[in-house]
Amino acid sequence: MYNRNMIAYSTPPMIEPSVTFLGAAQSVTGSMHLVEIGSQRLLLDCGLFRGRREEVRQRNTHFPFDPATLDAVILSHAHIDHCGNLPNLVRQGFRGPIYCTPATRDLAALMLADTGRIHEEEADSQVTSGDADRTIDHCVPIPYEQELALSGDVQLRFLDAGHILGSAITVLTFHHAGRTHRLTFTGDLGRRGVPFLRPPTPVPAADLILCECTYGGRRHDTLETMAAKMSKVVRGTLERGGKVLIPAFSLGRTQLVLHFLQRWMRDGVLPRLPIYVDSPLAADIAAVYQRYGDAFEHLPAAGLPPVHYFRSPEEAREVSLLPEPCILVASGGMCDGGRIMPHLRLHIDDPRCSIVLVSYQAPHSLGAQLLQLRPTVRFHGRNWNKWAEVVSISGFSGHADHEDFLALLGPALGETGKICLVHGEPPQAEALATDLRKMGFADVTVPRREEHVKVA
Ligand SMILES: [Zn+2]
Repeated sequence: MYNRNMIAYSTPPMIEPSVTFLGAAQSVTGSMHLVEIGSQRLLLDCGLFRGRREEVRQRNTHFPFDPATLDAVILSHAHIDHCGNLPNLVRQGFRGPIYCTPATRDLAALMLADTGRIHEEEADSQVTSGDADRTIDHCVPIPYEQELALSGDVQLRFLDAGHILGSAITVLTFHHAGRTHRLTFTGDLGRRGVPFLRPPTPVPAADLILCECTYGGRRHDTLETMAAKMSKVVRGTLERGGKVLIPAFSLGRTQLVLHFLQRWMRDGVLPRLPIYVDSPLAADIAAVYQRYGDAFEHLPAAGLPPVHYFRSPEEAREVSLLPEPCILVASGGMCDGGRIMPHLRLHIDDPRCSIVLVSYQAPHSLGAQLLQLRPTVRFHGRNWNKWAEVVSISGFSGHADHEDFLALLGPALGETGKICLVHGEPPQAEALATDLRKMGFADVTVPRREEHVKVA
């Protein structure tokens, strides 16, 4: 199966170990990198690309290699931009194992089933829920810190990346030309100082480190600032007799927000209000988080207020129409769809209510429109008066910020060959690259898509 977009990977007998960057290179979507070590061909992540419609179709359905020739996939975590295109890979002939942590397998099953449903609703997509199920059958769960020998003298080890439940740093060790070599892929790295999941493991030194840089050059709110901002908006809304709407992505963000809402209510930082979650996917994810209790730095303790999950939209609407104040977390982090939409329609023009944005808002999203100083917003074909209070709290990010990167990479200084920054827009990547060079890392680059880099 050859097409003109396919990169010709001829395999001479003594091929140099290398990485080819195939997605999330100078961008944040569709994470995918091809690692070649001897005769082994390993794919790091197989994320769904999102962007302009035509490019989406082209990038997601045409792999620049034959999926049948891959020996294995190594999956860093269950976010769709890292695992979402696996069903296409399987559909197009991939037959090998997908190595991931046990929690990532369980979460990927939920995430892929959910996107499978979305794909089926789009007439032009061929991916089905059946493809998602078959993909999960390929998963081979490997716990953190366990060494696994892959074929071709390659050792694989996962370390806790602290980004979402199950997220992993991948460490590959192998021999080439009489030396031991190491390749480290951070996947997405979590924050330090926001105790919920365990903190990210410092990135191990390697001949080549592939490091994400989503928030290079940026600094997130501290936990104290987050608590102060949330307290102000929740107390103000309660005094006015309104509702607090929190749009949040179902995997990662929702669990983090709920954890701190509960904790702050218990500790008196926030007034006690009913907490509702309108996202069937988040309800399923909550059950998986519960099963892996030992992944958490602070187990939910006694005295936490309850959280009620809605599965049916009707039940959610009923509560949304009640006059009592409450906190309503709903799916759709950027307000461009999801279960937040009916609540926005009901409350956007209610000056008693507030909308708390806890995610990055892409430039053309409704969330970004909400943040602009304009009296109206446009969605669902009409203009709406924007009379609800809109507040943004950046600290709920699941990603490392600039200081986190410097701290997590610091220990690798002196024993690391080169660092390639991936999963970040060029300004963020350059900001991080500049400070890593200042720290003493001699070789830091920001590879383009389809760029080919030798490991050693
Ligand atoms: Zn992620």
